[in-house]
Amino acid sequence: MASRVIPVEPFDLVIFGGTGDLARRKIWPALFRRFVAGQIEGDVRLIGAARGEMDSAGFRDVVQEAIVEFGGEESRRKANLSAFIKMLSYVTLDARGEAGWVELAKLMRPDRIRAFYFSVAPSLFGDLAKRLHKHGMADDTSRIVVEKPFGRDLESARDLNRVLARHFDESQIYRIDHYLGKETVQNLMAIRFGNVLFEPLWNSQYVDHIQITVAESVGVGGRGDYYDKSGAMRDMVQNHMMQLLCLIAMEPPAKFDPDAVRDEKLKVIRALDPVRGADVVRGQYEAQGDKADYRTQVEDPDSTTESFIALKALVSNWRWAGTPFYLRTGKRLRDRASEIAVVFKDAPHSIFGADAGRHRNILTIRLQPNEGIELGVTIKEPGPGGMRLIDVPLDMTFAEALGPEDADFPDAYERLIMDVIRGNQTLFMRGDEVEAAWAWTDPIIADWEAGASEPLPYISGSSGPDEALMLMHRDGRRWREIKP
Ligand code: NAP
Repeated sequence: MASRVIPVEPFDLVIFGGTGDLARRKIWPALFRRFVAGQIEGDVRLIGAARGEMDSAGFRDVVQEAIVEFGGEESRRKANLSAFIKMLSYVTLDARGEAGWVELAKLMRPDRIRAFYFSVAPSLFGDLAKRLHKHGMADDTSRIVVEKPFGRDLESARDLNRVLARHFDESQIYRIDHYLGKETVQNLMAIRFGNVLFEPLWNSQYVDHIQITVAESVGVGGRGDYYDKSGAMRDMVQNHMMQLLCLIAMEPPAKFDPDAVRDEKLKVIRALDPVRGADVVRGQYEAQGDKADYRTQVEDPDSTTESFIALKALVSNWRWAGTPFYLRTGKRLRDRASEIAVVFKDAPHSIFGADAGRHRNILTIRLQPNEGIELGVTIKEPGPGGMRLIDVPLDMTFAEALGPEDADFPDAYERLIMDVIRGNQTLFMRGDEVEAAWAWTDPIIADWEAGASEPLPYISGSSGPDEALMLMHRDGRRWREIKP
């Protein structure tokens, strides 16, 4: 059952930083795939802008190469690629200078949806916003898309919000968190709010705890210097994991519309207790076999930046009081696996006696690999020999349930860029949400900095420092195994 693709209205889209890493790996391939799917058609202009000197023909070669490398199977079909490439043009432009702006303004058409993707360093956001305004491109209908990181603390995030607000209304600003564009993350909302089954149980009366894991098996690689300035807390927890926590914890919004959803997420962030020092574990990976030590991969040989973090978060409201959220993320862990596990409480009384053991329902939302949702239920072990219980998964791996065609999910960027064109902000972070998230993480980071805290070493390929295991053990719980 192939889903119906509705083309978006014609638009002009400028990618500032159109020759950069993100544009080549994600943005252009995403646009290409939406074109192949039939969602982008007609008179559309896709414009790359950066300082590098080249003409549109040279730029088309750059994008073509990127699509062949990152665009998947469809890019092998020459006809698709050459039709797409015709939509592209390039303007040599400096965000900080005047060169190129008049030329760009001439390319933009007044009767089109106009979108501007800021795929450049955040330090240039203000310059871009100012010049878009100065050259008459920041009208009421234009939209801007900004990438992570959105600040490195509350103060810098506020500054960025202020700079953008000078020329754009909040309704025109699309702050990307690509986790929100993941199919399974959206499915989490469908599961919660589209079924009557889960919502009555979705509270501290029935849920023992929640685990959110985003484990990577790779290290910082060539991004060491960027990563070292940020660390797991800023790079993963403040944004992606916070968003996942919000979607699990939020109250049902009245409607699936941008402000209704974002209001509810904001309430969750504001209900988070400050995290106690004893409830956070930071780690940094050490060498193992041919895998290098973190400190040899970054500029500072004494770096105290964490490549791993585990913490216990408490949402202090009626729904969640007493149900902790355990978050863990890190690099160079045993496997690459991301999941949310909602662990329900034991049945209040076991009619099968102590020998039947302890069995729990667990709803697992797998983000990668093998996106899908699994509900663990307890059944009788088949065969004679009494009433022995086992846990089995009611599995909904989407590829099996939907067939390969529909389970070939669009990449998060495909969904999000099309939402920008459609003018739908539901899956983008609002300015106040981002600020509230920094307000929660800032004191934790400030504590580390004040105490000059050293992260705990962990062996590459392990599950992180032992202290992270203790974080749950002391509560009588344990982490789920990290497995792909
Ligand atoms: P990048 O590879 O360094 O590319 C930067 C782009 O900006 C290049 O096209 C560069 O071209 C252009 N640029 C630099 N200075 C400019 C100026 N003054 N005026 C106009 N264009 C300028 O960076 P990136 O990795 O693509 O990252 C772009 C943004 O996405 C950053 O905010 C980053 O944090 C975010 N992000 C990246 C990733 C990723 O995987 N790469 C993931 C998440 C978020 P010229 O040098 O020719 O001007």
